[in-house]
Amino acid sequence: MPKTKRGRALWNMPSRGRGTCPVCANTRIKLLYPRTTSGGEAVKVCKRCSGAPQDKVDAVSG
Ligand SMILES: [Zn+2]
Repeated sequence: MPKTKRGRALWNMPSRGRGTCPVCANTRIKLLYPRTTSGGEAVKVCKRCSGAPQDKVDAVSG
């Protein structure tokens, strides 16, 4: 399997896989980890927030 979270694979992604993490509000961080809120909304979070408690993710979608 190709590495999808590092290297050239990121260059093909929008903003090269980076953006503002909706959970920790870090800017220009890599958003490569999909989480789903309790409302069923899919959000991409950073590595730090990939292991965040569910209530942190739920707080994203007001
Ligand atoms: Zn984050």
